Amino acid sequence: MASNKPSILRNQGAKQSKIIANALEREGEMNILIIDIETLPNSGYMWGMFDQNFGLAQVIEWSTVASFAAKWYGKKKIHFYSDFHDGHDVMVQAAWDMMNKADAIVHYNGKAFDVKHLHREFLLGGYGPPTPHKDIDLLTIVRNQFKFTSNKLDSVSQQLGVGSKVKHDGFSLWVGCMEGDEKAWNKMRTYNKGDVRITEAVYEIVRPWIRQHPHVGLYTGDLDCCPKCGSLERTRRGFAYTPAQVYQRFQCNNCGGYFRSKSRIPDTVTNTRNVA
Ligand SMILES: [Zn+2]
Repeated sequence: MASNKPSILRNQGAKQSKIIANALEREGEMNILIIDIETLPNSGYMWGMFDQNFGLAQVIEWSTVASFAAKWYGKKKIHFYSDFHDGHDVMVQAAWDMMNKADAIVHYNGKAFDVKHLHREFLLGGYGPPTPHKDIDLLTIVRNQFKFTSNKLDSVSQQLGVGSKVKHDGFSLWVGCMEGDEKAWNKMRTYNKGDVRITEAVYEIVRPWIRQHPHVGLYTGDLDCCPKCGSLERTRRGFAYTPAQVYQRFQCNNCGGYFRSKSRIPDTVTNTRNVA
């Protein structure tokens, strides 16, 4: 049957289909990066302790990203780079390289904090933006889906039984790092890597609850997989109903997440429609 579309749109459609087909042919992996940064505070002159406002002239040094720890989901190694161990430029380059390869980035409040801090470092370092990624911000998910008394990573991870943040002496750790103390920096490394470890553990537990998880199958090429974890083991669990269509509903045998078939069940299409 001839299409009614103008030829220019028909061609665009064909081009688009070819691009999607090529993309799906890749038997790749979805590169999910779990990341956490540590920053050093602004430093400056102050006249008092309470209710203070600071002018630009009072600032001695601006806050910077001092280190980051990151791990590719499914891989063992936790990478760590810092001002002290590697130098600031090497650290920023490493963060840019990893973000540039990431399809999605898992973090805890990273959309408002970690990713933005890193973007500033990239800008100041003369980098362009890394390849766009999808954010999987676990703080947003924990806030939206559950009612914890505290949404802090340390509290949530402890309640889930996957460990706690590495203990330290508080702000004196940051002072030690600013003074270039090797012991303090090594403690910071342990602390930073520990955060990545528990962030990953929390991710695995809350993953079946993530409604907008990027579809893993779009990256691996297998669209029948669980969109959240990529497993092909699934069980039929009734049907998913939208206002006008019915779909097969599945539950993933691996992560427990629910999803539905891409195509509607043809026999159940309604012949009438609601009108307001
Ligand atoms: Zn799954």
